[in-house]
Amino acid sequence: MPLLKVEHVSKSFNDHIAVDDISFTLDAGVVYGILGPNGAGKSTTIRMIMNILVPDKGRINLFGASMNEDLKNRIGYLPEERGLYPKMKVADVLTFLGELHNLTPADARQRAMRWLERLDLAGHAHQKVDTLSKGMQQKVQIIGSLLHDPSLLILDEPFSGLDPVNTNLIKDIMLELKNEGRAIMLSTHMMETAEKLCDRILMINHGHLVLEGPLDKLQQRYGSQSLQVEYNGDAAFVRELPMIQKADIYANYMEIRLKDAAMRKEFLKIIADKLDIISFKSQKSSLNEIFIREAGETHA
Ligand code: ADP
Repeated sequence: MPLLKVEHVSKSFNDHIAVDDISFTLDAGVVYGILGPNGAGKSTTIRMIMNILVPDKGRINLFGASMNEDLKNRIGYLPEERGLYPKMKVADVLTFLGELHNLTPADARQRAMRWLERLDLAGHAHQKVDTLSKGMQQKVQIIGSLLHDPSLLILDEPFSGLDPVNTNLIKDIMLELKNEGRAIMLSTHMMETAEKLCDRILMINHGHLVLEGPLDKLQQRYGSQSLQVEYNGDAAFVRELPMIQKADIYANYMEIRLKDAAMRKEFLKIIADKLDIISFKSQKSSLNEIFIREAGETHA
């Protein structure tokens, strides 16, 4: 049974369709990325999952049921809008958040201190929230979402506002939680970070699904059409091959763009037959390239 099942969900605000017929499932031990530019419909999708917004159409199942108060203890949620009690001390605010998820005060405080240590914030435990930088406050809020040891984490833009060091720190923690068998769903407009972290992705644009599936399969499918070949021999014939979109041919080196990445194998066979190949290189397409190709837009 998937931990989360979203079926044909849509949501409009007045006449504007924010999310249009989105479906996906999320299993344990998976990091799932909802990707898309600002305004794509990521937060609206997440808010529907958290039952903050009610879908106009479609169904959402969490742990095989509709969202209810008990389920909230099995889920950790980082909302897009950040906000902690500014005048409370960091350790107190986390203890309070833990208690909201049924932890005892002592247990909550102990867990809070452990996580603060892990996120390099132990020295700030007794400071008031509003004396911390925005990035630090965000880390505190991330701790608040996972203090109660949820099996499903739903994080809306967890990396926005974090510097590269802290982005890496949070990324490592997510990978650890995933390896413990938890499911993590996160939204982000940062394609490069998603690329390093997610097992599966859902790309949306203007509320519509652009692509969905396992990241490695998608990258294979959209494998780069650009190839670099080092060779000995006369490569002039390559220009005439039907699968070539563009060929820059030099004495012992060529840069090729194929019409379709799927033609790579056939291309390699032909040139291996006629030339002495020294090296052959093709790079994976980045998520950004895939997005541009599929959505026909530059990603913000
Ligand atoms: P993302 O999280 O991908 O940046 P959102 O889900 O926040 O996108 O927004 C999707 C679209 O829905 C945007 O055009 C946004 O302006 C609109 N929208 C989101 N929430 C509301 C709301 N409460 N009222 C009206 N429009 C909204």
